[in-house]
Amino acid sequence: MTRRRGTRIPEHADIAIERWGRLLLEIDHGRPRASYTIPQAPAQRRPQAPYSEYVSLPARDAQLVQIMDASLADATRRAGHWLACRLGCTQCCHGVFAIDALDAERLRTGMQVLRVTDPALAAELTRRARLWLAEHGPAFPGDLRTGILGASAAEEAQFEGFANEAACPALDPATGRCDVYAWRPMTCRVFGPPVRMGDGDALGCCELCFVGASEDQIAACEMPIPHDLEAEIVHQLEERGEALPQAQTVVAFALLR
Ligand code: SF4
Ligand code: SF4
Repeated sequence: MTRRRGTRIPEHADIAIERWGRLLLEIDHGRPRASYTIPQAPAQRRPQAPYSEYVSLPARDAQLVQIMDASLADATRRAGHWLACRLGCTQCCHGVFAIDALDAERLRTGMQVLRVTDPALAAELTRRARLWLAEHGPAFPGDLRTGILGASAAEEAQFEGFANEAACPALDPATGRCDVYAWRPMTCRVFGPPVRMGDGDALGCCELCFVGASEDQIAACEMPIPHDLEAEIVHQLEERGEALPQAQTVVAFALLR
């Protein structure tokens, strides 16, 4: 029997506590065994198991996705012809980007669904993700076993030049369709319309959209993003010990979990 962080230890039980893939404490009829080891802070260690084993999709993610879908639909309606997005336009699906624990878990959930409902597509996504990692993995600035991006200044600098031209493994090269559209990361959900960048002062949008539009016309089509709700859900994952603090990965790893 194993327990996860944050749960209470029963008074009389044979139990083992595992954290971050390592046995930390065994309870023999309510008493810790002599081999008890004091856990280190998770942020100070590399995890031993794959990234997605630490997370589970919170129920509030459905609310987040619903808000994002409604926000995108409303921004699209206001933008009209200024928005150039269409099936087969894939520029925004080239070049790697970081995703957080919630994005990764949503993708993992999508793959679980596809393995049951469309095994051929799931197998194809797996094949593409493996190919992607075979090509780009050697230069991945992080832990290849877990898929977690490194957080040092050197690793962050390396990520700037990493796989910048690579097609996302979730992109169907024949149709230009996203094969995990319903479960795509938050970054993908804001491609196109104007959204607040950086500290929130500047509006940015896809360079293929709003060509010739004035600043006022762009501002009138801003897509609001519930950053606070997303941060809150990710924080919950971290507090429950189901995600390493501020851990990030990339789509290819998430598709293989
Ligand atoms: S965000 Fe830009 S690149 Fe992506 S589909 Fe829309 S127009 Fe095309
Ligand atoms: S997950 Fe889908 S929408 Fe996002 S970059 Fe990949 S193919 Fe494009």
